[in-house]
Amino acid sequence: MKNKMNFLASALVITAATALILGYCYFFPEDAQRALIIYISTLILLTIFMAFASFIYRKHRSSVDDTDLAVIAENMNCEMIVWADDFSYVFLNKKLREHFGIVDWNYDRKEVMRVAFGVEKMTRVTVNDIVDNNAYEARFRDKNGAVLTIAWSTSLIKKRKKNSLYLSTGFNLTEIRKMKVNLASANDFFNSSMELAEIGVIMSTDRQNYRASSEMVRMLGLKKSSITAAEFRNLVHPNDRIQFDSAMRSQDSSEVRCVDMRIKSAEGPYRWYSYRYKSIAGTDNTLPLFGGAILDVNDEHEKDMLIERLAYIDEVTEIANRNKLLDAGQGIYDTCRLLDYSYWIIILDIDRFHIINDTCGYNNGNYILRNFAHILYKFVTPGGLAARISGDNFALVLRDYGDDDIPTRTVKNIQEEFAKLAVDDFSAISLSCSAGYSKLPEDGSSFLDVMEHAEFALKSSEGEKGHVCGYEPSMHDSIIGKTELEKALALAIDNNELQLFYQPKIDLATGKIMGVEALIRWIKPDGTIVKPDQFVPIAESSHLIGKISEFVLNEGCRQNSLWQKMGYPKIVMSINFTSTDFYQSDLKEKVFDALAKAGLEPEWLEVELTETLALSDIDFAVDQMNKLRDLGVKLAMDDFGTGYSSLSYLQILPITLLKLDRSFITDIEHDNIAYEIVSAVIRIAKSKRIKTIAEGIEDKIQESILRTAGCDYAQGFLYGKPMPPDKLQEFFEKNMREHGG
Ligand code: C2E
Ligand code: MG
Ligand code: MG
Repeated sequence: MKNKMNFLASALVITAATALILGYCYFFPEDAQRALIIYISTLILLTIFMAFASFIYRKHRSSVDDTDLAVIAENMNCEMIVWADDFSYVFLNKKLREHFGIVDWNYDRKEVMRVAFGVEKMTRVTVNDIVDNNAYEARFRDKNGAVLTIAWSTSLIKKRKKNSLYLSTGFNLTEIRKMKVNLASANDFFNSSMELAEIGVIMSTDRQNYRASSEMVRMLGLKKSSITAAEFRNLVHPNDRIQFDSAMRSQDSSEVRCVDMRIKSAEGPYRWYSYRYKSIAGTDNTLPLFGGAILDVNDEHEKDMLIERLAYIDEVTEIANRNKLLDAGQGIYDTCRLLDYSYWIIILDIDRFHIINDTCGYNNGNYILRNFAHILYKFVTPGGLAARISGDNFALVLRDYGDDDIPTRTVKNIQEEFAKLAVDDFSAISLSCSAGYSKLPEDGSSFLDVMEHAEFALKSSEGEKGHVCGYEPSMHDSIIGKTELEKALALAIDNNELQLFYQPKIDLATGKIMGVEALIRWIKPDGTIVKPDQFVPIAESSHLIGKISEFVLNEGCRQNSLWQKMGYPKIVMSINFTSTDFYQSDLKEKVFDALAKAGLEPEWLEVELTETLALSDIDFAVDQMNKLRDLGVKLAMDDFGTGYSSLSYLQILPITLLKLDRSFITDIEHDNIAYEIVSAVIRIAKSKRIKTIAEGIEDKIQESILRTAGCDYAQGFLYGKPMPPDKLQEFFEKNMREHGG
């Protein structure tokens, strides 16, 4: 239209210009030729210009014209129909024609409309309905008989009094619904798979609001499929929330991470679930995604826990065992090295536990161990642990905050609590423990190393009830000085610097001396006296002990025989044997020779053995003891109560005397358990016809308590310290004067 107007306007202008030129030529014929030439040239130039401009315009136009639009409509990938309000179509695009199989335009135009809009009859109401409804749904069969559902969107494109035109654009819902069905069945498939595999899935795009899969809803008994992070956290066991929080805060990562935690299950109680989670960063086109899957691992976890329990938990006390201590301890040690931390390890030993166990009974023994473990547990600080290492040995690992008194203070507190423990009939018994401690990492090159040093410190205080001792590297110095001492001792033996001192033993019924214990002394040329504790262990670890023991055996027999010859009442000479002495294969022969050489009857010689010595090879020990008994020599169990102290061994070992260790006697007037133990041991010994002697009697009260308890003999500073032979003779004479010969 616009083009037509332009054309008419151009034609009028050209006609007017031509009329003007022709008029000019008529009135001015002399100028006509020139004017015509100018006019025609101008016309030609104008035409060329217009053609060029039109060419440029066509080339650069940006809008489409009607023809283009028709082509577009024809080829659109959606159904299009232009129709008039007499319900007949004007234009059907290719897509729609294909549905109907229309190849020419001779179809019934109204019928096509009726079918396309899926109505029985086209009425004014129907048309209004079609026009007003933005997605008018129509169902019809295509040329192949397949049902199509089209949503028509209609608009008025030309309003006229009569025959207005409408454009309806279709949206094929059949395809969309097919996609939806596929999507829904994929979703169903996903949910069913998760249900079969019993895997719950949870997902979020903002880490605050989660959607849970139907299996997740079922597993955790959720009320709905949406759950907030806080609600999810509330379902997690309080002790596992740290792991949960770190999982929830985890950074975006392509890696799948996993954490095991207890979550409240649909059944009510907490169950163990393995939560595998992942976080995916968002892109320009996608939202970030965070979430994971939970899998019920309760049964596996319980099995693992059982295995862990068997491997790492002590059955009696239910605290960690030695394996667990070594495992966890090395971890602590490594952390200390890495982060510059330090920890203490305290090794604790229940004083006289073996004998308590024997006298109070196995159940009471276990009761003591359990309670001791529980006391220790109270002192465990974060990151540390308590463990039972063996028998009555425990360990406590504590974080060090720079206070060097912590181990001693902690042990004192443990001792106080332990002392309060009441065991069965033994009311107010004074239970105690000793301890050795060391520091990690500085006291060793590994956790085991540090622990052994704490044990070393504990041993250094052995025998002293309630003692607490910290490890010092200088403790090893005594070992370093050993060789020097060995050399000096060898010389001392050659120079006859060793001497026997004698300590009297008293019959508690008569007050008379009934024997002496030979105790070795090293008397240096300057007169200083070295006690056996300082050199016997060194002699024992070298060949020197043989020489020493030979001297003690021969000298003891000689001296006793001499006293008898001097007319003193016959008494028993006790000598001490180390395990090296005792386990010699020709022991019996050596003793026999010594007795023969001295001319002493065997019944006046007694050999003292410690429990540890006797029990290190019990079969051989019993054999050796029987050989000595065959000779007629007496046998005493020394320091009873400090070693294994099992009363059951009294059945097996052919001993004639039981020596109650000094540690029971020292505080017997206040220490109920010591009294109970001593009384019980005396009773049992009597029933086996074994005599008893108490070592370390220092006062009259102790003497009277032991006499009342039924103890046969006594030895201690109350009667006399170990003394040289001449002093012993004086003692002898005094005793004879006071108690008769
Ligand atoms: P033992 O055989 O138990 O000897 C008793 C120890 O207790 C002696 O220490 C003695 O002096 C000490 N004692 C006795 N009564 C009392 C008392 O009332 N109060 C206190 N505080 N102590 C008392 P000694 O002589 O220093 O001997 C220590 C240990 O050395 C002995 O313990 C024994 O195991 C060993 N020993 C001594 N002589 C010999 C020996 O000739 N050969 C061997 N192999 N070991 C010996
Ligand atoms: Mg002894
Ligand atoms: Mg002793």
